[in-house]
Amino acid sequence: ALRVLGVRKTFGDHAALDDVSLDVREGEVVVVIGPSGSGKSTLIRCVHQLEAIDAGAVYLDGELLGYERHRGGLRALGERRVAAQRSRMSMVFQQFNLIPHFTVLRNITEAPVRVHGRARADAESEAMELLERVGLADRAQHYPRQLSGGQQQRVAIARAVATKPRITLFDEPTSALDPELVEDVLGVMRGLAADGMTMVVVTHEMAFAREVADRCVFMEAGRVVESGPPSELFTAPRSARLRSFLARHH
Ligand code: ATP
Ligand code: MG
Repeated sequence: ALRVLGVRKTFGDHAALDDVSLDVREGEVVVVIGPSGSGKSTLIRCVHQLEAIDAGAVYLDGELLGYERHRGGLRALGERRVAAQRSRMSMVFQQFNLIPHFTVLRNITEAPVRVHGRARADAESEAMELLERVGLADRAQHYPRQLSGGQQQRVAIARAVATKPRITLFDEPTSALDPELVEDVLGVMRGLAADGMTMVVVTHEMAFAREVADRCVFMEAGRVVESGPPSELFTAPRSARLRSFLARHH
């Protein structure tokens, strides 16, 4: 489970996140929506320890991330301990970020082998099962440039879950794709959600949010404005801001 508590993140004198709290229970799918610049990416980057926060705290399974208690205060953890904490989470980016000179199979097995110390043969057979699941078993020996955007994103998702993360963070995973490729990627994500994977998904795909999210969070200007089950949020938005956002993103 993930707990984000009163997180503040500033860039210069601009608060990208202003007292943001969020709980994600085990097996839950939380979808984050909101206009451009509202802090959605910053939120998941702070969770994934890609950004240092200015106040508040992030806990994964009860463990404080990035800091330890020290003489009544907090002290930043060293790089190796942060890396160990980060290795329990995965992230899927808008731009896939596959390693171009690695095959599809190697992209998926690299973290399990190098970071998690898995035997290569085991990692490869599990990677093949994952590729089967995302419909790309026949592409294991291809390179990323030989795949469509939708195929690359499905490989990136297979790579993300290959490490058996406690939580997977998705930042607009379909925004860079041609419209006809979006559905295949969402289909893979639906499958993972149905399997009980814990996920935080930033997306503008409102149909996906309605159908798959256990909870939906609407952010604006660095704050969580509203959150709740999609059945409530989409049908009876309380704030004028969410109403106008939904009108623009039906
Ligand atoms: P989008 O939908 O366009 O992806 P977002 O909700 O993901 O938007 P963020 O990328 O989290 O928004 O940005 C939130 C705010 O923080 C914006 O005002 C942005 O300009 C600012 N910001 C984000 N990253 C940085 C940075 N590295 N340096 C300075 N400002 C930043
Ligand atoms: Mg963003």
